[in-house]
Amino acid sequence: MEQTVNTTVLRQTNRRRVLQYIYDSVEPVTKQEIAGALSLSLPTVTGNLAELLEEGLVSCSGTQESTGGRKPRTYALEPQSRTAVGVFIRDDSVQMLAIDLRAGEMGFQEASVPFAHTEEYYHMIAQCLEEFMDSCGLARDRLLGVGITIPGIIDQAAGRLVMSPTLELWDIPLEEIYCHFSRYPTFIENSPNASGYAERWADSEATNVVYLSLDRGVGGAIIQGDKQYMGDHGRGGEFGHMRLIPNGRLCHCGRRGCVEAYCSTSRLSDDLGITLEEFFTRLQAGDEAVAEVWEEYRTHLADTLVNLRTCFDCDIILGGSLSRYLEGLLPEICWELGEKTLFNSDSVFLRLDHFGPHSACAGTALRFIDDFLLTF
Ligand SMILES: [Zn+2]
Repeated sequence: MEQTVNTTVLRQTNRRRVLQYIYDSVEPVTKQEIAGALSLSLPTVTGNLAELLEEGLVSCSGTQESTGGRKPRTYALEPQSRTAVGVFIRDDSVQMLAIDLRAGEMGFQEASVPFAHTEEYYHMIAQCLEEFMDSCGLARDRLLGVGITIPGIIDQAAGRLVMSPTLELWDIPLEEIYCHFSRYPTFIENSPNASGYAERWADSEATNVVYLSLDRGVGGAIIQGDKQYMGDHGRGGEFGHMRLIPNGRLCHCGRRGCVEAYCSTSRLSDDLGITLEEFFTRLQAGDEAVAEVWEEYRTHLADTLVNLRTCFDCDIILGGSLSRYLEGLLPEICWELGEKTLFNSDSVFLRLDHFGPHSACAGTALRFIDDFLLTF
């Protein structure tokens, strides 16, 4: 009995290793290359490849296994053989992103829908999700799952959304959101955590990274090696509610002087009655009033970044809806960091996120992809 179990485990492990090798290979690979790299026998590789071909996970091309003057048979991943979707529920819109096994985007959609914690709202979003997946040509039998991400503190162990000042939700069961998407495997996570996960995935060379998400809400994620640090209560990385100015501006959380009260994108948009796009267009055009607001914002952002750098001593990635406007402004932010940081020549630790405004959706969808590759 034990031997049967061991044989089954060994077969699964070998199949997973073969798939992972093909996944990691940029170019198609031959059976001999797989066998050599993984120290497996050719019959074992042949058996595994037959299963992967049947599952549709890999495809083959070429005419025969050995070269012999003809084109050798090679095997490559079929990225769209499995897919996952991320849904980002924001206060004023919903984003949906479909990705394949290599995080290739199969479709993205953003709809301006004001959030409401009502049956009608969730019903509409679930309907939008079906239409979105249809528009991407996404076969449901290849869908690994639908990740939902929201700006808020989540206690996974207790199954509760502790609070989401941005969505104006306080201590509700996650089930009230889950139940509307339960047709598919699903789970809910905090949006900066999802973004941080996506950025870690995109930069596998990175060791430790801190992610700072700049949206109406401000949050973050801490990534140590290949793990996300969540803290003892799942609240690690809530940078938006660090105290920046004692007795300062009122924050959505009810306290005063939080980072979010100074670094929310609302400071550059809602508070001025304009959009972020208008703000940065005016800034570029030399609008003095806008430049003054930006300078104040940048100062608070730089103070926050220096604090994070002092605490974590690692690279910091800026994300959220603001990141798409920051490319040309990065040098001046880094200059200010250089002036404020404790260590000389310690200002080149800042970069923008890889997935840009799609990062939260990408991260939460990638959880399903990674889980599949680990457990297949
Ligand atoms: Zn706060």
